[in-house]
Amino acid sequence: MNYRGVLGHEFVGKVLRSDNSALIGRRVVGEINAGCGRCDACRGGLARHCAGRTVLGIVGRDGAFAERLSLPNSNLHCVPDSVPDELAVFVEPVAAAYEILDQLVIPSENRICVLGDGRMGAIVAFTLAAEGFAVTLGGHHREKLGRLAALGIAAVEERALAPGFDVVVDATGRSEGFNRALQLVRARGTLVLKSTAASSAAMNLAPVVVNEITVVGSRCGRFEPALAALASRKLELRPLISATLPLEDGVRAMELAATAPNFKVLLRPS
Ligand SMILES: [Zn+2]
Repeated sequence: MNYRGVLGHEFVGKVLRSDNSALIGRRVVGEINAGCGRCDACRGGLARHCAGRTVLGIVGRDGAFAERLSLPNSNLHCVPDSVPDELAVFVEPVAAAYEILDQLVIPSENRICVLGDGRMGAIVAFTLAAEGFAVTLGGHHREKLGRLAALGIAAVEERALAPGFDVVVDATGRSEGFNRALQLVRARGTLVLKSTAASSAAMNLAPVVVNEITVVGSRCGRFEPALAALASRKLELRPLISATLPLEDGVRAMELAATAPNFKVLLRPS
């Protein structure tokens, strides 16, 4: 996004200042897209598609790797006491995973494949499995696949996957993901793109037409189902936390986050 500024868009924090006094002191998570409040998208409740939006740590708004950040009141969701800080930080990516179920009605007997054994792939797989779907995750990193398998996810080497899935979610973060997903989805199946890296893929779209594939782009989601799933313990993501470091060790945290088999590395600002 050619962004320069403070990174970070998954956070939990306490409200220090607000013109809504009821929010002050509350523990909150925040939706990352801040709309203009005036356009059709915003007035229709879809600020995350406002053409003039800022996005926390991504577009025009300093992010969460900091002691303080600012967001509109309407972006904030109070966190129930039953969700500790280290799990509340997962609300944003879990909401992105639930967005798939907001966009699609997937029959419960459908076979779903998630491509990608990174953070997003893992969270999508855990979320869909928690909702009762049969999920197979395909990836390239043996240590990560081993850790996910130990946590109950059917995680296999990507090249071992056989075609025929009803739904394939590309969370590879790589441009090749789209074409591989297209090989794995059945005729008239659905391909969900969670990777913005697909922008640079050399795509052969003929199979989309010939096999009548539905392609769905999928980004941020509503926070409500994510908060509910974490509060009810339907979704247990604590095993994905590899380390927690103070903000001063942010560079080291970045290095750790880039090292397999680590998934999530958390920063504690104070
Ligand atoms: Zn707007």
